[in-house]
Amino acid sequence: MKQTDVCIVGAGPAGAIAALFLAKEGINCILTDKAKFPRDKICGDGISGWVVSVLYELDKDLLLRLAKQPFLLHSYGIRIVAPNSKYIDLPFIDNNPVDQRIPPGFIGRRIDFDNFLIEEVKKKKEIELSEETEIIKYRKNTEGITLISKEGKDISARMVIYANGANSGFMKDPGGIIKDNKYTLTGLKAYYKGVTGFHPQNYVELHFLKKLLPCYFWIFPLPDGLANVGVGLDQYRISKKKINLKEKMLEAIETVPYLKERFANSEMVSKIQAYGLPLWDRKRRISGDRYMLTGDVASLIDPVTGEGIGHAAISGMLAARQAKRSLKANDFTADFMEQYDQSLYDKIGKELNISSKIAKFIKHAWLFNAVVNRTVNSKTLQHRLSLAMTDLEVRQRLKKPSVYLKVLLGR
Ligand SMILES: Cc1cc2nc3c(=O)[nH]c(=O)nc-3n(C[C@H](O)[C@H](O)[C@H](O)COP(=O)(O)OP(=O)(O)OC[C@H]3O[C@@H](n4cnc5c(N)ncnc54)[C@H](O)[C@@H]3O)c2cc1C
Repeated sequence: MKQTDVCIVGAGPAGAIAALFLAKEGINCILTDKAKFPRDKICGDGISGWVVSVLYELDKDLLLRLAKQPFLLHSYGIRIVAPNSKYIDLPFIDNNPVDQRIPPGFIGRRIDFDNFLIEEVKKKKEIELSEETEIIKYRKNTEGITLISKEGKDISARMVIYANGANSGFMKDPGGIIKDNKYTLTGLKAYYKGVTGFHPQNYVELHFLKKLLPCYFWIFPLPDGLANVGVGLDQYRISKKKINLKEKMLEAIETVPYLKERFANSEMVSKIQAYGLPLWDRKRRISGDRYMLTGDVASLIDPVTGEGIGHAAISGMLAARQAKRSLKANDFTADFMEQYDQSLYDKIGKELNISSKIAKFIKHAWLFNAVVNRTVNSKTLQHRLSLAMTDLEVRQRLKKPSVYLKVLLGR
């Protein structure tokens, strides 16, 4: 059986980034994945500013290399379309521009983005990548944790970082997280060719259609004239109202007049695929004796935007920092590991909290329409909303109903 100080289960963004931060500190680890890379991950392919800042902290040259990859579009803003089909374009305001060559966000197919990270992993002597190694069980003993793999490639580790995504069994055991279908979305995505009408600076588009509120229909432009098109809805409503999400997505394209126009000469060039999104709903323990949960296993997806790659990246980085502290102190107890939870919530807890409050406002189509109607004609409001994408203080104000009243009254 292989022995290691740290084993990371899952080599998506959370796991690969944790491994790269450990390597930067000279710490050895085994990084396992059930798949062989390149492998796809069902996703909207929007890679937000958090990923940019985490990769900048990891290695600026790596980020510059990433920015040059032809599989990525550089994205400079977001288009929000209200249920009445009026829209506002909000540029991402970068308060701390790191380098003119690095955009505030990217859009790129996950098969390529995740493989880019894996190619970086393969360059590091500290990381042993074990593909086609599916971890199905764990066993605790006095020395650490034994991870049992389906293929018989068992690993013994002093500590484990679970990073194996939305369907991970480790979320429940040892994590103790029970999925709530009100906070688990089913997301569908398909690739299209020939969709028209994108913003020249590759804005990601969130279309809040009345029938889907508070969730949305998205269109994200990709290189080579492709677009990632999808829709998400919570599993509670899907089963209560017996909604066929695939039908809803195709119906929107065929019947919403402005979408019908933009898709007139388009063609679907992939299957429609579905996967779960575990949304953040509350602060909870995400570590314990000798383990940490990261990314989707810790349910860290933003409840308004559906973004999870950025939070997966942050949690991977912070889990690696905790692993370093634990190894140095030779302390793997749940009490000591709690520093990981603290550091993560210090960084993104406030943002997640605000998002869950904003999600409640989005449920009301009339209010949403009214705010967008006014914002369309006001440069000041557009600027304020743009700031809210990055500035927590502004976002904090946006969660107060009085802000929307002021907007409606034109103050
Ligand atoms: C339809 C849809 C659209 C989305 N759109 C966006 C978006 O545009 N932007 C955004 O930021 N987020 C988006 N998300 C969320 C985003 O995809 C996830 O939050 C993100 O992938 C989480 O990264 P991760 O590293 O935690 O897990 P993953 O990316 O899921 O990686 C987990 C890895 O673990 C491996 N694995 C699984 N089980 C095992 C096992 N037992 N043993 C070993 N390995 C295992 C898998 O093969 C995989 O490589 C979307 C999600 C969906 C479903």
